Amino acid sequence: MASHNYDYDLFVIGGGSGGVRAARISSQHGAKVGLAEYDRYGGTCVIRGCVPKKLMVYASRFANEFEEASGYGWTVGERSFDWSTLIGRKDEEIDRLEEIYRTNLKKAGVTLFDAHARFADAHTLILKSGDGSEQKVTADRILIATGGYPKLDDRLPGMEHAITSNAVFHLDEMPKRIVIAGGGYIAVEFASIFCGLGADTTLIYRGDEILRGFDDEVRTFTREQLERKGLKVILGEVFTKLEETPQGLVGHTSGGKVLEADQIMFAIGRNPNVHGLGLQGVGVAQGAKGEIIVDAFSQTSQDHIYAVGDVTDRINLTPVAIREGHAFADTVFGGMPTRMDHADVATAVFTTPEIGTVGLTEQEARATHQMVDIYRTDFRTMKKAFPGSSERMLMKIVVDGQTDRVLGVHVVGDGAGEMSQLLGIAIKMGATKADFDRTVAVHPTAAEELVTLRTRSERYMKDAAE
Ligand code: FAD
Repeated sequence: MASHNYDYDLFVIGGGSGGVRAARISSQHGAKVGLAEYDRYGGTCVIRGCVPKKLMVYASRFANEFEEASGYGWTVGERSFDWSTLIGRKDEEIDRLEEIYRTNLKKAGVTLFDAHARFADAHTLILKSGDGSEQKVTADRILIATGGYPKLDDRLPGMEHAITSNAVFHLDEMPKRIVIAGGGYIAVEFASIFCGLGADTTLIYRGDEILRGFDDEVRTFTREQLERKGLKVILGEVFTKLEETPQGLVGHTSGGKVLEADQIMFAIGRNPNVHGLGLQGVGVAQGAKGEIIVDAFSQTSQDHIYAVGDVTDRINLTPVAIREGHAFADTVFGGMPTRMDHADVATAVFTTPEIGTVGLTEQEARATHQMVDIYRTDFRTMKKAFPGSSERMLMKIVVDGQTDRVLGVHVVGDGAGEMSQLLGIAIKMGATKADFDRTVAVHPTAAEELVTLRTRSERYMKDAAE
């Protein structure tokens, strides 16, 4: 029986990474929980994000492997890639995962509604099903976990000809020529995917370097590696017009270029998904992008309304949304007040070569610390050098010169994402460079370079006047 004569102790809006975890754990803590999802269970990550993307990343990497295999004595026969096989098998996998999400929620005792939710008042939601029917539910507490959606450039003539990451997973045919607008990790990952799959791929980005927010050296190094693999990168330009012609799509750029393509994809950022929620009526404070403003416990300006995940625009990653959802459930229904710790979240960019990173970039460290030591190496790994591949790997350790504490580690190369997960533990524990140095190497691996990097590349002292 729910508290205060409400239908539910908790109603969750959104069945994605954050909402599902929050609903499941709250229910396990004894709350009566309802959840509404208007699209598919699993949310962005499972349906149109991390999971299908990673499957495409794996698919895109075989070309490299075939190339290198001959250096190891293999004769690889005729190669061909069938887009519809990949997409079909990917869809089956996503169906399977969605079913698991539904089952786990039901097993945990959560009542599911395949419906769109909006506020009628502070404790009442209107649930609208696909057939148009509506019902009202009341809840003591409400969690908004509605995620985000791809931003478009509404002022761009011909924008309707472009696709976003939502549609890219469902194209009938693989584009032979694709142009991707954007410089963030989603844009760059898809550029790398299509390049690996053999499409003529161009990335166009208005900034002076891709992957803003990452370590500057990592950004340049990654771009150069991708260019070596055939990706064309146009920096400092934007599209001024898109049009459909008999030759395919044509994109005109601010630098006067005319780019022909079978598909033009926009990945220029994501906005918090607050559309149609009726938030104005309930007085939940929002920021400039519409993001829901929350405190360290994910509580909004209304005491009984909480928000987690991308809709709060803190760190927009699945494991972060999951942790925020879990912390919310423990705080509100588990009697264990838990603040989400957003520091030193390790992350990966699944380009080929991939990026794994945790902690401060060199530029962040130099802005906040008196003395910063950089240890850096870039080299050809054994695996790449042997078959004659020119691909290089970068490793960079950023150290507080005064305390010896490792502030950040950045890796570009095979396995970098996997490495960053473990490096994240070391950084969370406050490891020093001396701790790295006294760790015995695992040989022969690429990762051993991280514990054998003894020679400092640079030391930066902060100007006393700064
Ligand atoms: P979501 O997972 O977006 O879930 C929100 C859900 O709410 C959706 O299912 C939506 O349909 C539903 N909803 C919205 N409004 C309503 C409403 N009014 N009523 C009912 N239901 C509603 N993160 C990583 O960590 N690693 C990656 O490699 C990675 N790759 C990505 C690749 C792409 C292409 C994209 C787009 C994202 C990627 N992300 C990745 C980010 C990750 O997907 C998100 O950070 C994560 O899904 C956020 O979870 P969430 O619970 O906040 O929202």
